[in-house]
Amino acid sequence: MATPTAKDGSAQLPPVTNIQMVDLKAQYLAMQDEVDQAILDVVRSGAFINGPTVKQFQAGLEEFLGAQYVIPCANGTDALQIALMALGLKPGDEVIVPAFTYVASAEIIALLRLSPVMVDVDPRTFNIRAEDIEAVITPKTKAIIPVHMFGQSCDMEPIIALANKHSLHIVEDNAQSIGATYTFSDGQSVRTGAIGDIGCTSFYPSKNLGAYGDGGAINTNKEKLAEEIRKVANHGQNRRYYHDVVGCNSRLDSIQAAVLNCKLPRLEGYCDRRRMAADYYDANLQGLDGLLTPARQKNSTHVFHQYTLRIDGGRRDALQEHLKAAGIPSMIYYPVPLYDQEAFRGTAANDIDFLPVTDMLCKEVISLPMHSEFEEATLAYIVATVRNFF
Ligand SMILES: *Cc1c(COP(=O)(O)O)cnc(C)c1O
Repeated sequence: MATPTAKDGSAQLPPVTNIQMVDLKAQYLAMQDEVDQAILDVVRSGAFINGPTVKQFQAGLEEFLGAQYVIPCANGTDALQIALMALGLKPGDEVIVPAFTYVASAEIIALLRLSPVMVDVDPRTFNIRAEDIEAVITPKTKAIIPVHMFGQSCDMEPIIALANKHSLHIVEDNAQSIGATYTFSDGQSVRTGAIGDIGCTSFYPSKNLGAYGDGGAINTNKEKLAEEIRKVANHGQNRRYYHDVVGCNSRLDSIQAAVLNCKLPRLEGYCDRRRMAADYYDANLQGLDGLLTPARQKNSTHVFHQYTLRIDGGRRDALQEHLKAAGIPSMIYYPVPLYDQEAFRGTAANDIDFLPVTDMLCKEVISLPMHSEFEEATLAYIVATVRNFF
């Protein structure tokens, strides 16, 4: 794609209208016949719960992730909750989680009366780091939730080493990074979500693999854990009406599975197109004083769930206004550190009320429109508008 001509506000590109953060409609239109038929098939079959489309999706996702067992569920938050329930943690056990993440990653810890231990993240990758994790490990620490932020894997090798050393469970929050691959120092490449003990993901419509409603999945390579997860997600029963533990009810419905079956074979292509958009942003947003484009790690591919800039000098909100005036949506993921949220105030077991990187990121980050259906003119217009601001 060519470089846009507008660099300093002198050359004006014609405005592009109706720009979306995520263009789900265009994605649908590109496979309309197939999706319509798949949904209609479910409706006509009457197999709305646990139908064959769910089993097909489960098998497809197992293959995609390279995971032994996939247990579909109702949403990504449930996936995380069920994962922690299946590990048999006890009230007061400590679970390490980044302070810079979506609320769900920490919410389920508090909900289960476990103790969240919040740690800072890397200022360039937005991901949790082994050294910050190690500093907060106590005899009560039982699990780590690495959140693969915005489409890139956390640096898992040193995190796994720590978990082995201290006998900790790893539950990956892979809601934003399905499709990314992490490469170990021995050259082995593994999909995010299939690296730790349990992986959790979300099929919320705007996620890289989005359903047409809510959905989620849990995966593991451990047979015993898979059994436990299945049980917890199904009212704590293996056998109908015999309940071994208090569980919950969390299912992926057949219509969502039918949609996901259409989209899963296209996921690599979606991720490629997101990367192409990111490449374009990267190439055309260099050399602006006070704007940092997202860093790319050597040991992870990037699937760009979000394309997130850092804007320093307190100008982030002004840039957002500038974009808005030009008809360009943007989002702040995330504006408030978890330890500053009313719901979590005073809950962090490590008694944190300030982490410098998280605090800075909440003030500096802004995510530009990112999806798999861009026309070049749209990207050129967004880039030119950002450049005009500086
Ligand atoms: C979206 C998301 C979730 C939750 O997924 P839902 O399906 O909305 O419950 C959890 N963690 C992260 C990091 C997310 O982005």
